[in-house]
This record gives sequence, structure tokens and C-alpha cells, in this order.
Amino acid sequence: MGDDQNVCHDEFGHKYHLIKKIAEGGQGAVYRTQHKDLVVKRELKNGLPVPASEDMCQLFLSLRLLPIPQGLNITLPLAVLKEDSGYVMQLMDEMQSFRAAFSAVPENDAAENEWITQVKSQNTDLGAICSNLIARGGMRRFLRAHLHAAVLMAHLHAAGLVYCDFSANNVFISRDVNFCHVWLIDADNLDIQEETRKRIIYTPGIGAPELCDPEVRVRTGCTFSSDCHAFAAVFFQQLTHHHPFEGKLFEEQIEELGALEEAEFCRDRGDYPWVFDTEDDSNVWEEGAFYRALLPDGIWEILDKTFESGLFKPSLRPSMAEWSYELARSLDVLVCCPHCQMEYYEAQLKCPWCDHVHPQLVLSARFPSGEALWSFAHELDERETIDVPLRLVHGFRASELEETAFRVRWTGHTLEIRKIGEHFATEFSGSDGIRKEAANFVTDAITESFFIFCRDTENNFSIIIEGRILYGTE
Ligand SMILES: [Zn+2]
Repeated sequence: MGDDQNVCHDEFGHKYHLIKKIAEGGQGAVYRTQHKDLVVKRELKNGLPVPASEDMCQLFLSLRLLPIPQGLNITLPLAVLKEDSGYVMQLMDEMQSFRAAFSAVPENDAAENEWITQVKSQNTDLGAICSNLIARGGMRRFLRAHLHAAVLMAHLHAAGLVYCDFSANNVFISRDVNFCHVWLIDADNLDIQEETRKRIIYTPGIGAPELCDPEVRVRTGCTFSSDCHAFAAVFFQQLTHHHPFEGKLFEEQIEELGALEEAEFCRDRGDYPWVFDTEDDSNVWEEGAFYRALLPDGIWEILDKTFESGLFKPSLRPSMAEWSYELARSLDVLVCCPHCQMEYYEAQLKCPWCDHVHPQLVLSARFPSGEALWSFAHELDERETIDVPLRLVHGFRASELEETAFRVRWTGHTLEIRKIGEHFATEFSGSDGIRKEAANFVTDAITESFFIFCRDTENNFSIIIEGRILYGTE
């Protein structure tokens, strides 16, 4: 440790001024430095820097030998620190942690609109929740961010690597809400499962019970399944700002035991059912009922499987690949109401939050056999073009997360659909029922269904997309 707590040096003698702490976890803190895109992770114990040790240096260096898939958004140590235990890594200046993006007080002003004002007049807390949610980019940004994070984790798992310490402080996202670049930092615990099984690492409050319970943890250590538990716990906490196991029973236990720490210990080792348990409501979180409407059934099922059947049976927890698939499916049918700015799943005649009627696009893809492949729904707005993901034609593929199949423009009366890229050939048919080979198509009669026939000759498959515009009248 140098004389100045805010200065450190790396193994090559470069000096770093620690300007601002941007994340803090169980094992240390991450600081911005005088270099725009370089940050320093410094290990802390009882709030103080830990002196550098040969073991730690070896651990950081051996990370470079792991079979980390190329091109994955994960920052690896560039250089280890000389005096302190820690390292230097690259992290773009315009990134912020998930915690800052989704659970801290929004940097932007809280959103205001007529509907929110009305909700606030009846229930101030609920109004504030909705207003903050919208200011943070709404569920669309939340799901998209977590989809990217889930895919990153799934890639690591597929390569045989356990991340060990997934937390809202270790995953970063673009500060600008118009972008969604997601990076994992803090890779120092990354290793093959055979090695991570020997370690107990978790961020307090989100560790799996087998890591938190001293009676069983010697047998398990960090696994793919404990990563999945941490991901689910972070996902739930970032959305609700509430712990998934803090309900009625937990509150009663604090009173009974007279000590918060003891109740937290019992909470973390799995003594209380999860707050939305499907069979046991003894630990219900009544104030949280509102959040049920923010996620579709498919995601609640994943959370139920993780926190109920999978709580003590890690192998039953849904994998990061299952999370990725379900998050993508949910994201693609999310509709945002232009009046209240709240969101819902699948097209509906009127907004379930404010009853506003607005035009929506619905695209359903199926195989020629009739079997459904993928669905897409989106609000239509004359000021905005819509990028329809390639998933509609290809189904879910982790490598095509941000690829676009069609770009759609709505004029208020007609819909213009343009094929993007050369992945497949298209024929369109409108109300006249005649199939025409084209890469562009304009619907004339918006009350009728239209069809897009997609043919991928290289991979020899065909997909039929049925499109319609839901345009109710007030
Ligand atoms: Zn609405």
C-alpha cells in the first residue's frame, strides 16, 4: 500500500489515481482512474486494502489461460497491482453497474405523465415505483440487459467455466439508455467447476443456500447451479428492490430472535419459503403483489423453479440457457403503451394499466407444419421504426442476439416492411392473397392479415409469418 490510499501502482510501474468508487462487492471495490477506460479492482478486508501476495498474482495471471470464448464481453485483468491485492482492467467510461442502472435512484428525472399523476394521487409509493421504472428505461431495457447478461453467463457455462460471484456490481451496462452493451467485470473467480467447487464465494444476500449454510457448504462450493441462483436473486432484487426471501415470516423472526443478523442467516440458508411461493404463503410479501404484473408467466415459472423446487436441489434450477430463451421470448412480445408508458406482454385491445387504445403490430412465425416458432408484438408509433429481431425467423440463437430480420415503419395508415440482410428470401402476400417475391412490402388494408413467406435455401427451411395490426377504436 502506498502512502496515499487513493494511489496505487501496477506491476509495470504505472501509477493510478483512484478517483471514484463505482462498485463494491463482498471482496473489494472497483474505482475509476485518471485513465478514461481503465479501472482498478482492489481487494478490501474490513474496508482496508489487502497487501499483494504471490498467490493472488498467480491467480490473476492464470486467468489468462482459461478457455474463455473469444469475443465474450468479459473484462480480464491487464496488469496486477504492485503493493495491493488487485488488478487493472478495461471498462469503458460510459458504462455503469446494473445496481446503478436499475436499483439506485435514477440519474434522469423521474418520469411524469397524466396517468402517473393519477396513480400518485391514490398511492404515492406505487406512483413512485412506476415513475422510476419508466425513467430507468422500463421493462424493455431491464429485460434486454438481463438477456445479454444471461447469454454471457450461458457462454461461460457452455465453456465449462463457473463465474462464482454474479452480482449487480459485477455486471455493467451502457449509461445511455439507447444502447445496451453489457459487460461482466471482476473475472478473478472464474474457473472450471472442478476448481470452483473448492471455493465458497458469494455476495451477501444473493448466495445460494448451499454456499451460505456452513453445515453443507464444504460439500458443494461454487457451481453452475450456484451461478444460476445468484442470477435469479439479482434479477428479482434489481426489479423489486426487495430480497426474494424477506416476507412475513422473516419479519416475525426478526422480532422473535431479536437480531437481524440471525434472521438473515436463516434467510440465506433457506429456512423461509420464497415470498411468492406457489404452495406456502407463510412468508408472503404482500406489498410486492404489484410486481407480479411486470413479468410474464414464463419468467415467474423460472423464478419458482429456482427458489422453490431448486432451492435445496441445485440441479433443478433453470440453466442460464433457459433464462436466455425465456427473457428473449418475453422481450419480443413486450408492448409499451404510448399514453402511460407502462408495458405489458402480448398485444391487447387496450392497455391494462390505463385502458388506452393504441395500434400494435403482431407477427407470429410458424413452420409449414403449423408448429409455432416465435412471436413478436410491438406498439406502433409514426415517429419510430421498429427492428424485428432475426429470432422471429430463426428462433432463439445466442449468437444472433441483436440481429434484425425486418425493419418496420408505420405511417398511421400503412405499414412498410423491409427485409434486412441476406439471411433468407421473402415473398409477401397482402389482402389480395397473391404471393410476390420482394424484399419490401407495404400493407394497404390494415384490417386484414398479411403473410411473409421466408425461405432459407442454404439451410433448407421455410417459415410462414402471419402479421396483423391490432387497431381498436376507443
Ligand atoms: Zn397505458
